[in-house]
Amino acid sequence: MIRLFISDLHLHSDRPQVAEGLNNFLNTHAHRADALYILGDLFDSWIGDDYCLPLYQQIIDSLAQVGKSKVALYFMHGNRDFLIREEFSRHTACQIINDPHTITGHAQDVLLTHGDILCTKDITHKILIAITRRRRWIKNILVNSFLAQPIRRRLQILQAVKRINVKFKKNKSLEIMDVVPKTVQQVMETHRTSIMIHGHTHRPAIHRLATNGEPQYRIVLGDWDEYGWYVQWDDQLSGIDAFQLQKFKI
Ligand code: MN
Repeated sequence: MIRLFISDLHLHSDRPQVAEGLNNFLNTHAHRADALYILGDLFDSWIGDDYCLPLYQQIIDSLAQVGKSKVALYFMHGNRDFLIREEFSRHTACQIINDPHTITGHAQDVLLTHGDILCTKDITHKILIAITRRRRWIKNILVNSFLAQPIRRRLQILQAVKRINVKFKKNKSLEIMDVVPKTVQQVMETHRTSIMIHGHTHRPAIHRLATNGEPQYRIVLGDWDEYGWYVQWDDQLSGIDAFQLQKFKI
């Protein structure tokens, strides 16, 4: 079984070439795979399934096309598009999966996460995660009251959040925005896995982790800009040879 993984496309109308790159990817690579996993931040922002820009609609249609073939589609929320809900899922045929999520292969299991849960030094992000992703009841109240606002108001709030984000990012060192090795170790131990795939940090690489026993690997997807990135997993192979981190020109 061939499974593909992508993340961090940050689709936005300012960068139509990335959407075009995704369309090409869906029509070529994805069609040849058995499953496609989108590990978050597909969209640069998402303010509700009822607000759909033409660019977003085009992507939804393309995903629906792929979903009609034999390719199984899965979507995991990122920190940018965590408001994606059932309507998106219904229109695209993407099944929404939790973060983190373990998938089983022929020779081994793989742990999938968007990756922000691994960046535990990033305090602003931590607060946001605590509010919006971990504490379900707070999240529900916030999300529901946000989604109940008219679209015009939601767009204003989005702009305000973006301004705050830009301010915070200026003061953050790059090290803070990367994963914390201890957290990676803990998450892998909890989920009893030796291979993890994630995005979010925009630092594509395959890391072999320093462990005493069995080798462990952390595979990081790249963000899409000049290049598109994906990981291919052939579960008939075992160990790290089963995985390929690929990039292509957009
Ligand atoms: Mn992210």
